[in-house]
Amino acid sequence: MLTLYLRLNYEVIFEQPLTSEELAVEEALQTALSQINVPVTRFWGNTLYHPEDLPFDIKQIPELFTNFRKSVEKKSSVAPSFSKPKKLPQLPDIDLGEIPQLSDLELEVPKFDSRAVLQFKGGEAAGLARLDNYIWSNNCLKDYKKTRNGMLGADYSSKFSPWLALGCLSPRFIYEQVKEYEAQRVKNDSTYWLIFELLWRDFFYFICAKHGNHIFRQSGLQGIEIPWKEDWIRFELWQEGKTGFPLVDANMRELATTGFMSNRGRQNVASFLTKNLGINWQMGAEWFESLLIDYDVCSNWGNWNYTAGVGNDARGFRYFNIPKQSKDYDPKGEYIRHWLPELTSIKGNLIHEPGKLSAEDRKHFGVRLGVDYPRPVVNFFQSVKANEKIYNAAVELAKKQ
Ligand SMILES: Cc1cc2nc3c(=O)[nH]c(=O)nc-3n(C[C@H](O)[C@H](O)[C@H](O)COP(=O)(O)OP(=O)(O)OC[C@H]3O[C@@H](n4cnc5c(N)ncnc54)[C@H](O)[C@@H]3O)c2cc1C
Repeated sequence: MLTLYLRLNYEVIFEQPLTSEELAVEEALQTALSQINVPVTRFWGNTLYHPEDLPFDIKQIPELFTNFRKSVEKKSSVAPSFSKPKKLPQLPDIDLGEIPQLSDLELEVPKFDSRAVLQFKGGEAAGLARLDNYIWSNNCLKDYKKTRNGMLGADYSSKFSPWLALGCLSPRFIYEQVKEYEAQRVKNDSTYWLIFELLWRDFFYFICAKHGNHIFRQSGLQGIEIPWKEDWIRFELWQEGKTGFPLVDANMRELATTGFMSNRGRQNVASFLTKNLGINWQMGAEWFESLLIDYDVCSNWGNWNYTAGVGNDARGFRYFNIPKQSKDYDPKGEYIRHWLPELTSIKGNLIHEPGKLSAEDRKHFGVRLGVDYPRPVVNFFQSVKANEKIYNAAVELAKKQ
């Protein structure tokens, strides 16, 4: 994403991209603008901490998040955000040409689905309104750490990500608002944790700045050559939310319908794709890239590296126990019922594992496995075990090379 600012004396100023496709856009733009003598300035504006305020050079960024965070928290400070200009001169007459409508591009105007967490609206004003709502009017920040792993509703987490990704909200401004909230209302674990999460975002930016396109390699930042499967049939089941694991399916249907998914959901579906299906994580990352309304190169590819176990900070073969996660984070099955209407009749904990329903239960709840809802595409623990073996063998091989 290249955010552009057009100065009135025809200087083009933009935020410095870090990765290949964005750099290619930048280069094309520079070439085109140099032909009409328009100067170009790039600046760093995406992160909470400016690279010049970090206690290390970009090339020395620690590979482990905890080391990065501790060092930055101890030795750096967040620069203040710039205040709004008091006045802007009148725009000159510019012929903008014809701005194409979505229909000209053979695209449909997306329809809002009332099951979505929020009716997201683009632009800075909408981003600031969300911030005001979440932090001040609804007073949600004081409970953020307790609620942030939720999946249902507008306020379990901030939902700042789409505006952050598009440059409509500044992380530094969020930081200042959190500090203001701490001064005026309460300072606790939750207020700290929102900043902590923004540090994860910074970390992935700086890791991308350090490693560049290595973030996209199949072998990841660690260079582990795992023989991933490219099983398109199973991949489609994952994409469409038809794996037979309700937590995965509900999240994948939410993503396809709304372009958003909670952090808890993202971690679970990414784990399932890589640790249960053993499918190439790049396919998952591309699917996310094509749908997420908060798509951000560094956060997306960095998190996928991490969950696939090939990232810089990966700690071996770690998988999410999906049925357990489902019970822990959706204890009443409300999230599953919200997205999988075919399972609404199933009562209690059975909703988390419909594949284990007895014939009697199936009859009682009126659910036909393989007809109304799919049978599990894999045996959960057997598939984890098989993929762990493959992963460990690849790690051993990488160590020898
Ligand atoms: C596989 C995978 C892919 C992801 N892809 C993206 C992506 O393309 N764009 C994106 O913005 N986030 C991505 N994330 C991170 C995270 O899931 C979202 O930032 C978060 O769910 C957005 O919701 P929120 O704004 O309510 O988050 P909150 O919980 O309210 O967090 C506040 C802000 O902190 C930042 N943040 C929180 N968690 C993370 C994280 N793990 N990594 C980086 N930043 C974080 C985000 O900017 C977020 O808006 C991904 C996570 C995973 C596991």
